[in-house]
Amino acid sequence: MAANKPFKAESQRLLDLMINSIYTNKDIFLRELISNASDACDKLYFASLEDESIQIDRTQLHIEVSVDKEARTITIKDNGIGMDLSDMEDNLGTIAKSGSLAFKQALEKGVEDVDIIGQFGVGFYSAFMVSDKVTVISKKINANQAFIFESSGVDGYVVDEADKEDVGTIITCHIKENIEDEDYDRFLEEYTIRSLIKQYSDYIRYPIKMKKEEGEMETLNSMIPLWKRSKSDVTMDEYHSFYKDKFYDFEDPAKVIHMNVEGTLSFTSLLFIPKKAPFNFYSNEFEKGLQLYSKGVFIMDKAKDLLGDHFRFVRGLVDSPDLNLNISREILQQDRQLKSIAQRLEKKIKSELISLLTSDRETYETFYTAFGNQLKYGLYQSYGMNKELLIDLILFYSSYEKKFVTLAEYVARMKDDQKEIYFVSAKSVDQADRLPASERVKDKGFEILYLVDDIDEFVLQMVRDYQDKPFKSINQGDLDLNDENEKEAIKDATEKSKDVLEALKEKLKDKVEDVRLSTRLKTHPVCLVSTDGVSFEMEKVLSQMPDAKDQNIKAKRILELNPEHPLLQTLNRLNESQSELLDDVASVLYDQACLIEGLPIEDPVGFALKLSNLLTQVH
Ligand code: ADP
Repeated sequence: MAANKPFKAESQRLLDLMINSIYTNKDIFLRELISNASDACDKLYFASLEDESIQIDRTQLHIEVSVDKEARTITIKDNGIGMDLSDMEDNLGTIAKSGSLAFKQALEKGVEDVDIIGQFGVGFYSAFMVSDKVTVISKKINANQAFIFESSGVDGYVVDEADKEDVGTIITCHIKENIEDEDYDRFLEEYTIRSLIKQYSDYIRYPIKMKKEEGEMETLNSMIPLWKRSKSDVTMDEYHSFYKDKFYDFEDPAKVIHMNVEGTLSFTSLLFIPKKAPFNFYSNEFEKGLQLYSKGVFIMDKAKDLLGDHFRFVRGLVDSPDLNLNISREILQQDRQLKSIAQRLEKKIKSELISLLTSDRETYETFYTAFGNQLKYGLYQSYGMNKELLIDLILFYSSYEKKFVTLAEYVARMKDDQKEIYFVSAKSVDQADRLPASERVKDKGFEILYLVDDIDEFVLQMVRDYQDKPFKSINQGDLDLNDENEKEAIKDATEKSKDVLEALKEKLKDKVEDVRLSTRLKTHPVCLVSTDGVSFEMEKVLSQMPDAKDQNIKAKRILELNPEHPLLQTLNRLNESQSELLDDVASVLYDQACLIEGLPIEDPVGFALKLSNLLTQVH
């Protein structure tokens, strides 16, 4: 054979990186070689269109992969355009082309992070990640002579004449021996190769064949990307099985979004909105992102920048011929094309969710049960900046039918004189519905949102209002439900009960800001409300936080008594004739009000003793 020729300097550097395996995902070498083989088939096909002397049958173009365990080789064979001597020198001996060129540019710019090289197609040289020697035998279309290119990397390469009858290229990778923390043997297992082809090269447009055990050839790839087919050609079943197959879900998705955008920026996207959250969804383990393809060739699995956190549940892919396949992740993040694709997707996801909400409420609610918290978290986390995007996707339970409602539905039903959107927090819808304060609000014909998730109140606080209607907790601050007569009546009653209210306030002064007659109770004797600001719900949530003890965030409490309830008369009477009991009475009233609100009582034993003590005084 001829003498070794050295690689050009930058080729040498790329090779060094490959050989020294800085890039950890070695699997991609096969994708790269198959992608080159597919390009070679394209080129031959195009050449045949331009040159009448080239007669080919496109359906015969294909790629063959085989594994020889004994010889430790993987062979990739195509009947594409082939290479002659100068092609080999120019294309394999130098970094000249697309993917590798990006690498060259990155080197010139001094990009250090080479850990992600493979995601952007370093091409042929990636074979050296798994091979200690690579042999290429090729015969170009219309050539008389075939050639061989062989290299073990470091020492450069040799080229020479070779024997090969038919047009095309055979690349043989001589697989490295295992080393301590790298198992190369696995690439010599047929099933590894099969699954790599399925994973990375499924949509290569030429058949990728491998010999079955019985000897016949089997095509491993499905060839046409589903997303490249026209929407009207794809059945819902096909979308669904594609989704389940690719994204490992057992259930059909709640929604399929297939979009094709043409213009200054062209891309196709196939998105799925799952019905159920993956088990690790609400943990750090879950990685958001969409698969990224360029012209049907897989580039990366989870492109994070294509999805905002609020939509991180969306699965799917984007295929764009316009993407800059830069090799540095930083550069990718700043990629303007990627950003504008992300914006288009975001709008589309929103409008599709809204359409699901209006056209198939049941499915939307299933989706919402799984991912509603993520949407709410998105509102909260962005300090309300995503309000316009997300607010109409949010559902709350309400007193109306104790079912999910949107804020738009709530506002549409609001009474003419209603200025605020009422809500109350509780552990469950039933509990919210039974709160003393709920009764009268409902009685007056107002709808109440029942907030049952920890995050709900925080979200409303961030969002502040909806269609200019502020949110108002029915057990916080003043609640203006009453007409003039009712207000007058409460004023009178307060005047009459002044002494007992003062006495109770004095006895509870360490616990409450005020004891007053209530404007919100109907049949219940007492309730505990908080002043505007920190609510009971927030107190409960914040007290669960790790540094809760230091902060000691507490809602300011007000004990309210129902002016209509006979208890008030009893209290008045006690204050006049049995005031020695008032200490225990005050304490029991306060504790029971806490219990109703779902707040812990400080001294349960004391509460029980006082209650029993009071019962013994009953005549
Ligand atoms: P890229 O594919 O990005 O151009 P590669 O390093 O993978 O870069 O390949 C360099 C070049 O070598 C290709 O552009 C092509 O001209 C040639 N080449 C590689 N593999 C084959 C093949 N199987 N058949 C014909 N030409 C090939």
